[in-house]
Amino acid sequence: MEKLAKIYVAGSGGLVGSALVRKLREDKYEDIVELASHEIDLRDYSAVEAFFTAARPDYVFLAAAKVGGIYANSTRPAEFIYDNLLIETNVIHAAHKWNVKKLLFLGSSCIYPKLAPQPIKEEYLLTGELEPTNEAYAIAKIAGIKMCQAYRKQYGCNFIAVMPTNLYGIYDNFDLTTSHVLPALINKFHDAVQNKLDSVTVWGSGKPRRELLYVDDLADACVFLMNSYNESPIVNIGTGRDISIAELAELIAGITGFRGTIVYDQTKPDGTPVKLLDVSKLADMGWAAKTSLQEGIKKTYEWFKSEKACARI
Ligand code: GDP
Repeated sequence: MEKLAKIYVAGSGGLVGSALVRKLREDKYEDIVELASHEIDLRDYSAVEAFFTAARPDYVFLAAAKVGGIYANSTRPAEFIYDNLLIETNVIHAAHKWNVKKLLFLGSSCIYPKLAPQPIKEEYLLTGELEPTNEAYAIAKIAGIKMCQAYRKQYGCNFIAVMPTNLYGIYDNFDLTTSHVLPALINKFHDAVQNKLDSVTVWGSGKPRRELLYVDDLADACVFLMNSYNESPIVNIGTGRDISIAELAELIAGITGFRGTIVYDQTKPDGTPVKLLDVSKLADMGWAAKTSLQEGIKKTYEWFKSEKACARI
């Protein structure tokens, strides 16, 4: 990407999009287009067309999506499949129609089969049944990957697709019913410390294992791939290390200063038993994650506390 190129970050208000904007600014890209979700409804093709006609971006990061944790995904599958299919279809098609030089689509590690061998290689896509708790979201993300590949094959578009592992960081969603595990646990343990509660409830058995990537590392990888990777096959982005939910809960308890009991609510789903990406393809290209889990959680927790402080004023 040329430093003066016009770069559209779709979804710049979210966890991933805001990290991409921070990274692009840090790298001195000068013409970054951001639009909040209340300024453009990417599910509406006429709005997307009007935007591309006026803005004419050179590069697009497609980080806009309807996202959520295990509870939101399993209880509102219609919204997850409908919104994500529309956003992807509209933005990818418009990027083709307005001759965008390159587009990077963000998928998710949940596109892989529930019982895929670990660590998960890119070629395991579509080799088995999906995890039921987020199947609708995963099907939409698989459609996005296949669209990028189809538009490359038929029209020669330089559209690439990357698969991040579970993400967390500043500007995350900490709402207990819609968030992912890491922000939910920060919120729960902080609340317990503040209100001197004796116990914190963690969903499921505590046994599932997840790989967690700090969102600024993801943004770094995306900009790296936008500048260096021009092929059809998908690329995993992760740390190459995983942790059990019980270990994660202990770690967050330590960082927040909680000394009470951790209770496991086994009426809540565990989801996929293990989800660890094989990141050797990206490592061979020369990229590795920099932020340790401990450091990433500390940064996220500091941000969460300061945001809560602002909200109270
Ligand atoms: P997943 O990676 O798609 O399964 O999404 P999540 O991040 O929502 O959940 C990961 C794991 O953490 C699952 O096994 C959840 O049951 C478990 N978990 C434990 N406590 C919580 C919680 O408070 N919120 C969420 N979202 N997950 C939790």
